[in-house]
Amino acid sequence: MTTYKHVTWTIASQSTPSILRYCRKCQSKREFNSSRKFRVNGNHKLLDVWLIYKCCQCDQTWNREILARTHVTKIDSTTLRCFRDNDHQLAERYANDIHGIKGVTRGDIVASSPFIKGLDIDLDSSCPAIITVNLEGQCNKRIDSLLAEVLDISRSKLMDLIKRQFIRSSRDSKAWYRRPPQHGQTILLGNNLSVGG
Ligand SMILES: [Zn+2]
Repeated sequence: MTTYKHVTWTIASQSTPSILRYCRKCQSKREFNSSRKFRVNGNHKLLDVWLIYKCCQCDQTWNREILARTHVTKIDSTTLRCFRDNDHQLAERYANDIHGIKGVTRGDIVASSPFIKGLDIDLDSSCPAIITVNLEGQCNKRIDSLLAEVLDISRSKLMDLIKRQFIRSSRDSKAWYRRPPQHGQTILLGNNLSVGG
């Protein structure tokens, strides 16, 4: 009877998406990341609120408009307090809401980089393994690139293992490794293993 190891592989978003824009200081297009801080400016009863982003290279800031010339009575007091206290959850919510930002196209949005943990696998071990993907958040990175990274092998070595069916997926698709991982997806490692699902 084959014994196999059950492993959960958690892939979580490390941060909120960054935005590609021209950095005046770097004089080049750079990724700007949310600093999770707001800037609130009041002029009489009219408020401006920005979420502050920073260039990943030089910390140059870019203020992303959240509210413009909005009457203070139109903002509920809890939200206003969250803006003033740099509430992390609210900042994260805005940083994840990347549609409709002035001057930013879809091509300027860089998905947050995946953070991988929990894949404790020894490729040389004779014990086959069943890996279940636990996806937390969004991941746009291809599964082959994630696997090569986490198994600490080259992409060509990984492709060889896939070709030899040493690594395979429960997903039907032939090119499963070229797609981003899916929650609940199973990856099988090792020979002589037949598991459905
Ligand atoms: Zn810069």
